[in-house]
Amino acid sequence: MGDTNLTAILYKQGDLRLEDAKVKEPGPGQVQLSMRDVGICGSDVHYWTHGAIGDFIVKAPMILGHEASAVVTKLGAGVTSLKVGDRVAIEPGVPCKCCKFCKKGRYNLCPDMSFCATPPIDGNLSRFYCHDADFCYKLPDHVSNEEGALLEPLSVGVHACTRAGVTLGSRVLICGAGPIGLVNIVTAKAKGAADVIITDIDASRLEFAKSLGADHTVLVTSRDPLDTANKVEAILGDKADITIECSGAPPSIRTAIFATAPGGCVVLVGLGPADVELPIVNAAVREVDIRGIFRYVNCYPTALAMIASGKVNVKPLVTHRFKLEQTLEAFELAKQGKGVKIMINCEK
Ligand code: NAD
Ligand code: ZN
Repeated sequence: MGDTNLTAILYKQGDLRLEDAKVKEPGPGQVQLSMRDVGICGSDVHYWTHGAIGDFIVKAPMILGHEASAVVTKLGAGVTSLKVGDRVAIEPGVPCKCCKFCKKGRYNLCPDMSFCATPPIDGNLSRFYCHDADFCYKLPDHVSNEEGALLEPLSVGVHACTRAGVTLGSRVLICGAGPIGLVNIVTAKAKGAADVIITDIDASRLEFAKSLGADHTVLVTSRDPLDTANKVEAILGDKADITIECSGAPPSIRTAIFATAPGGCVVLVGLGPADVELPIVNAAVREVDIRGIFRYVNCYPTALAMIASGKVNVKPLVTHRFKLEQTLEAFELAKQGKGVKIMINCEK
């Protein structure tokens, strides 16, 4: 293997290869980056196993990876915000910066978003990669490369908790204890939530959630959404002020509505089937707001400040580590649902 720019390329469903790709030069406003740590996301695994997520279909070979940190190796024309040698976290979605959504500051809704490892846009699971400098965030010396990569999922937690209105004293239900449910626990606690309760169908995931700071856990054993909602209410002594749904499972979304107090808010983070039957009149007459979130917007600086100040500790999320050369092994492990966050180190 030539190995100047070893790169993880998904050719098509089930066909992930490590190949030596051309090293690109940074365009105007971009930096060239020597990649450090890249976390595997459920979406990377899904593109590999299914070749598509909804309308995003892998039609041409695509580089995987979007939860990443790196070191700046070259500056493109006009870049003054960074210098060679800076360690950075990479915000993977670069919007058009011109449309009405971008101008309003809601750039995550930009119709011209280029998001790493969302077809047809390449990701950054490689030795070298180029990205817009203004979507790279310099890491302080005491924040590690792995923490830099974890800013990506943590930003989802920051956006969800912000849209949900989590504040001092909130009683928060989180449904689903995967990596996204877990970043919501640490964010909700950091924002001052008084009680965080989390559900899952997997007892080991709940154990992990408890170790990260969840105050209570509920093992979901019934398909009846009211059963689970009643268990939550019994533990909290009341319904939750806020529910953050992070599983995408239809029964769990139904539980989210039943378990939320009148006047409360349900935030839909989990993305499951496109159409789901919901107790919508129950939500309407109790003024339970239902809000969606799409990734994050303006959240990287907040997520970085939370880590740098020690307000949250995301280090325990990393349960497995591999080298870039071991990418296929890492993806096999991720496919089996083992561990929480699997990190791939791209340094030679
Ligand atoms: P994951 O699959 O690791 O975690 C989902 C968890 O939900 C698992 O632990 C699973 O056991 C649990 N679960 C399944 N059925 C359940 C039920 N009935 N009740 C309670 N828990 C149940 O996935 P993840 O990486 O943590 O991501 C979670 C979800 O968030 C996914 O659907 C993903 O697509 C979505 N997501 C959305 C956004 C967004 O922008 N909206 C961003 C990132 C991820
Ligand atoms: Zn735009």
